[in-house]
Order: sequence, then structure tokens, then C-alpha cells
Amino acid sequence: MKIRTPFFYGFHFIFFWVIQLYAIPSLAGKVPVITSIWPVADMIQEVGGDHVEVTFVLPAGASPHTFEPKPSLLKKFSTARIFFMVGAGLEFWAEKFIHLAGPGLKTVVLSEGVDLIDTTGHAHGNHGHPKKFADSEDRSTIANPHIWLDPVIAESMVEKIMDALCEVDHQHLTYYKHRGQNYLKELDKLHHRIEASVARFKIKKYVSFHASWDYFARRYGLESVGVIEAAPGRNPTPIQIKNIVVMIKKYHIRAVFAEPQLNARAAEIIAREAGVKALFLDPMGGSKQKNVHSYIELMGYNMGVFKEAME
Ligand SMILES: [Zn+2]
Repeated sequence: MKIRTPFFYGFHFIFFWVIQLYAIPSLAGKVPVITSIWPVADMIQEVGGDHVEVTFVLPAGASPHTFEPKPSLLKKFSTARIFFMVGAGLEFWAEKFIHLAGPGLKTVVLSEGVDLIDTTGHAHGNHGHPKKFADSEDRSTIANPHIWLDPVIAESMVEKIMDALCEVDHQHLTYYKHRGQNYLKELDKLHHRIEASVARFKIKKYVSFHASWDYFARRYGLESVGVIEAAPGRNPTPIQIKNIVVMIKKYHIRAVFAEPQLNARAAEIIAREAGVKALFLDPMGGSKQKNVHSYIELMGYNMGVFKEAME
């Protein structure tokens, strides 16, 4: 019978942990990553291709502003290697999941360095988020989080995704860089397509359901003159409805934008009062409708809606 020395056990112990820390992602082939919303999941998939396993938190049709995660979500966070979060208060629920998942989870904030739009000063509604995120400064609670709807900002998000994947899964660096660069070119084409389209718009003002298109509007020179939903989940008062109807008539706006993730009734009432159409913009996607299978197709769909109302 062999005598097993402490050295013997120690060696096995260390060997086990080496396997745990380094071998699993490469042996399993795919880097498990998690993100909150479908458009970002698509960006990660475009860069990561066959080497990432992307999970997104928000189910199709859910609004991020009223989302209540189930405790079972922790399992997904615990098995993920990277959490790509939009930030700016969008994932107001995420703090405890990040904390409980521990140091094995790398968190990348995609809005870092983005010139965020402040929502408190806006005359047309406060789209701030009631809950604070982590230890970040107060700004995150009042910033508008819909950065992904500006394709130029989306490019900066994709660069962060590329960097993080290259860092975590160094052996596929060339693969991620190649795919990432190609995707950046596609996003740039999307940006120029939108720019050319918007140049033909006769109307540059619009009324939206909530402040989701502020970054898009800032990029392409459009102007929101009214937001129907004063705060996430809150319907407008009769006075607010009346004010929006006045704006629609004043600026000859032809349509009111509703969103599939939110109750469209208020938008329909306003459209009827003002004698215009209610059209659906979709900032979130992921519902397998309208032949939208990617972020780029989602933006194409939305451009079609904007054109119908404004060209
Ligand atoms: Zn929103």
C-alpha cells in the first residue's frame, strides 16, 4: 500500500484548481457571457461567433424599466464569464447578481465614456430610473440609458465587446478582431444609410412613447417635442395628453410612436385626438416578428417606421 504524502494531495488539489480556472472555457469551446437586452446580445454574437454562448436577461416583449428579475437568474450570472451591461441605470436590478456571482464574473459597462443624455432637465418628461445602481454616482439614476439606438455609439459598444472577449479568451483573439472589424464596417454602413434617409425627412420633430430615441435623435438632428409616458410605467394625465395633441398640431406631426413593450393605449388615444396615425417603433427587438433577426435589421425596421411618419 502506498502512503500518500501531503505533497501528493496538494498536487492534486492545485491541479484541480488549474483545470477549473483555465481549462473550462477553452475545453468547453465557448465563453459563457450574459447581457441584459437582445440588441446587445446580437452585437456580442456578431463579434463572438462560434466561440461565445450568449444569454440575455430580458424576455422578448418586456420593458427594461419595469423589469423584476427572478432569483433563479443568479445561476446564469454564476456560470457567466463576462456580464456586458449597458449601464446608465438600465440594469438597476443587477447589483446583487454581480455581487453574488463573485470575482469570476468580469463586468463590462458599455456606456462607459459615452456622452450620456441627462433626463432631469428635460421639459418633456423625466425618463430617469428610480433605483440606484451600485456605488456609481448619482448621474446614472438620471441618465437616459437607450444608447444602443445610436449606431455610432453602438460601434463604441462593439469595440468594448471585442476588447473584453480578446482579453478573456486570448486564444481566439484574431477571430474576434476579424469578426469585430467586419461588424464595425456594417454598423458604419447602417449609420450612413440612416443619415441619407433622415436627410430626406420633411418633418424633423416627433412624439414618442418614452424617451428611447433621444440618442438617435441627437445623432441625426431630429427633435422630440413630446413624450407620452411621463415616467416608466406611468400613463400621462389628461392635461399632458392635451399638451401633446397641441404639439402634434403645431408641428404638423403625422404620427405618434408607440412601442410593443409598453401599453399602447395612451398612444392610440393621443393619435385619435390629434387625428394622426399610431405607429410602432421597437427599441428592443427579439420578438421574432417583422423579420427582424439582428440589431441591424431592427434599426432597419425602425427606419421604415420613421420614414412613414416623417419623410
Ligand atoms: Zn426605454
